[in-house]
Amino acid sequence: MAQITIVQLLGIDESHLISVEQQQLTEKTATAFCAMQEAALADGIDIQLVSAFRSFARQQYIWENKFDRYTSDGLTPNEAINRILAYSTIPGTSRHHWGTDIDITDGNATNQKQLLVAEKFHNNGPFAPLHQWMQANAHRFGFYLVYTNNSNRTGFSYEPWHYSYLPEAKAFLNDYEPRTAFAFFKSVGIKGSAYIDYAFWERYYAQFILGVNKALLEE
Ligand SMILES: [Zn+2]
Repeated sequence: MAQITIVQLLGIDESHLISVEQQQLTEKTATAFCAMQEAALADGIDIQLVSAFRSFARQQYIWENKFDRYTSDGLTPNEAINRILAYSTIPGTSRHHWGTDIDITDGNATNQKQLLVAEKFHNNGPFAPLHQWMQANAHRFGFYLVYTNNSNRTGFSYEPWHYSYLPEAKAFLNDYEPRTAFAFFKSVGIKGSAYIDYAFWERYYAQFILGVNKALLEE
């Protein structure tokens, strides 16, 4: 891929993406994903792509939905924002904006209502075989778990379903400019954004955006 642009980092440009199973990924991520999927299938694991690229507009919809729900449940705006940040990102800051990150499950485990629940990936859970296979093999294809269960990691909760294609994602994170993203975020007029100032944003950047598997950070 040529140079990473600000609109690609913010999830408002899709021109560098291609379609895979009704989701969108960068071309290199798609190629690596398909190779990994094929290798997994040979071992009896049926990797399903639940989510890949997500636009700024989609993330805004998710954010505003939760903000409305939590504030109407009686939380203050600041409490609602902190609650949202357990699992959802501030629009413009999601790794799903890049086309390098994927949420996956195993097609062998059908009839699952709630797919993305950490316990399902462990012990006798339906996605435990997938998790074990990924632990042993994902790195061979360039994929790394982002939100690990390392107790020293800050930010988002443990997500055993979320992987990132390191060769490209590392560059996206490296090119991410907190001040530019903040300026754009403030210009959109998203619900709750009045409660987020630059001091908050800088803390969020350090704890959440950089609160990932160390393998995905530049040395
Ligand atoms: Zn994800």
